[in-house]
Amino acid sequence: MTTNRKTLMIPGPIECETNVLQAMGAPPKSHTAPDFIKSFGNCLNMMKKVWMCPSGQPFLVAGTGTLAMEMAAANLIEEDDHALVISTGYFGKRYAEILERHGAKITILEAPVGDVVKTEDIEEELQHRDYKLMTFTHVDTSTAVMVDAASMGALGRKHNVLTVLDGVCSVAGEEIRQEEWGIDVVLTASQKAIGIPPGLALLVASPKAMETWKSRKTRVRSYYADWNNWLPIMDAYTAGKPAYFGTPAVNLVTALETGLNNILQEGLQERFERHKKTGLAFREAIRALGLSMIPKNETVAANTLSAPYLPEDVSLPDFMKAMGEAEVIIAGGLLPEIKGRYIRIGHMGSVAHTDLMNAIRGIARSLNQCGHKTDEDRGVLAIEETMKE
Ligand code: PMP
Repeated sequence: MTTNRKTLMIPGPIECETNVLQAMGAPPKSHTAPDFIKSFGNCLNMMKKVWMCPSGQPFLVAGTGTLAMEMAAANLIEEDDHALVISTGYFGKRYAEILERHGAKITILEAPVGDVVKTEDIEEELQHRDYKLMTFTHVDTSTAVMVDAASMGALGRKHNVLTVLDGVCSVAGEEIRQEEWGIDVVLTASQKAIGIPPGLALLVASPKAMETWKSRKTRVRSYYADWNNWLPIMDAYTAGKPAYFGTPAVNLVTALETGLNNILQEGLQERFERHKKTGLAFREAIRALGLSMIPKNETVAANTLSAPYLPEDVSLPDFMKAMGEAEVIIAGGLLPEIKGRYIRIGHMGSVAHTDLMNAIRGIARSLNQCGHKTDEDRGVLAIEETMKE
């Protein structure tokens, strides 16, 4: 039988390793079965390693990345607390809405498209008001802009503000050292660089974040997201005991165990380096085709995805139609201001050299088909040259 299955290269969900798919496909286990309890406990332990946060409290809950964002907000914010949102695109704005819904008074500092907010501007704002919490998006999936997470952690420490990193498009792809960098919450979802199908909200909270939550004066406004409901479950599974609050997504949890194992076996530093190289190779190839990127320079460019502008003479619907013939699936724009003018290609997790080649060939051919002349070989060569270095 022949198949014409295409490689999924949108910025999440991504392709999964075979052993992850096998774990996913096993018959569901009881959430109180001894081997499931062990898998859950292993996941929590491995999360602390992948997040590099040995003293952190992991939470592993059925839901998406947005739930992880909301969980941090719901548990850390009380009515009228001040929260500062550092926005580099679509997901920064989403965080502002979530925080507001939980009663926070929001200030949002928005970066120009393709850039980050200047450290001096953040610092000035932090001096100006007594903020309880500051959020930032490590890699905003709408712009492919990456924020310097270490310096944000340092700013939070300096000004005694809790820091929350939305790492949905970065955890296990871009370097994050949660404990060393002093970041209070690092959150993600299963479907991106972690390499599992969608459906799990994952976060690790620092001792300081847990203290802040414990000393709340008011009730958490979300029932499902309340750590009062989830902490006993995490504690029980860590201690090898059964517990129930909401039925765990059992197949996703066993798949996560396999996926986190894959990540640790590769080695975190090796994995970060591989993503850096892949990201650079892909950006070089895109530039070799004559396209420009949304991130204004290499310092702010993410490695988990690329977001190039289409040439002015090519329309997004025509381009995407032409991409229908390519061997890979990519995504269109997301940021409302420029949505119809750019594309997004995910290259995280188990992405292979050949996937990059297929993507760049598909993009070059589609541009040609839309009447914009490009030389496919230049793109391919750029990948080969960069990967060799
Ligand atoms: N933050 C970022 C940076 C994201 O990329 C996404 C998803 N694309 C989210 C948050 C929301 O995650 P989910 O779609 O899993 O709710």
